[in-house]
Amino acid sequence: MSVYSLLYDQTLCIGCKACEQACQSEHDQPPHEATRLDAQSFNWVEDLGNDRFQRHFCMNCEDPTCASVCPVGAFTKHDLGPVTWDPNLCMGCRYCMMACPFQVPRYEWDSVNPRVRKCDMCIHRVSRGRPTACAEVCPTGATLFGRREDLLAEAHRRLREHPERYNGGLYGEEEVGGTAVLMLLAADPEKSHLPANLPRQAMPMLTWQVLNKLPVIIAPWATFLGGMMWLTDRKNEVARRENGKTRGLHHKGERS
Ligand code: SF4
Ligand code: SF4
Ligand code: SF4
Repeated sequence: MSVYSLLYDQTLCIGCKACEQACQSEHDQPPHEATRLDAQSFNWVEDLGNDRFQRHFCMNCEDPTCASVCPVGAFTKHDLGPVTWDPNLCMGCRYCMMACPFQVPRYEWDSVNPRVRKCDMCIHRVSRGRPTACAEVCPTGATLFGRREDLLAEAHRRLREHPERYNGGLYGEEEVGGTAVLMLLAADPEKSHLPANLPRQAMPMLTWQVLNKLPVIIAPWATFLGGMMWLTDRKNEVARRENGKTRGLHHKGERS
């Protein structure tokens, strides 16, 4: 269970996009107005019309599907809350993109060394006891950072005291087994372009239940992935050996 969380209250969001800018600056991305999630936009404030807005970013799931399907363990769910991704382990299969129930991970299609990209819940700040950049700059308190148990209590207090404001309820407390990001919604999730009717149990559980029933599909897939990993290892090993040879020849040349 995450220690820390973010609580986004849609009814308090004025669409100023300060969180978008703070996220870009925090992750060395060129300043721009996001129009969707992409490799340069980990946080998108969508204008839903009628003065209603919706933030889209990684939910930093408690039991993340991206991590469960990644064949090389490139994703990590940290005890503090963030779900991160390691570029040194990723082999670019993009299975995480297909598996994420919130369709979050994006790929650097234009890069020669493409990476999977997504919100990392500002782990570099959170691990130093600081709030996420988006929560720090939010001028209305629409995005709050804090201990998950405190934010859950705060969300339920608002639901109890103002049920008429939150027809969409609390999103993220139970969806796919719970997420570090919690959202108080004015209307049903579909109206905010969020996936609705998600299972209450973690998707990794479902993934395994499905995969266990599909040995015919998973066996060739696992073989394929295993083959890809072996090829990558082989490629790196050959490169290392070739570099060693080159260096050896170079040294010999220097000595002569
Ligand atoms: S929202 Fe998607 S990318 Fe983010 S932690 Fe959950 S499964 Fe992974
Ligand atoms: S938690 Fe950090 S990375 Fe995620 S949306 Fe907020 S500022 Fe961006
Ligand atoms: S900074 Fe706060 S009020 Fe402004 S768009 Fe982001 S969540 Fe909404």
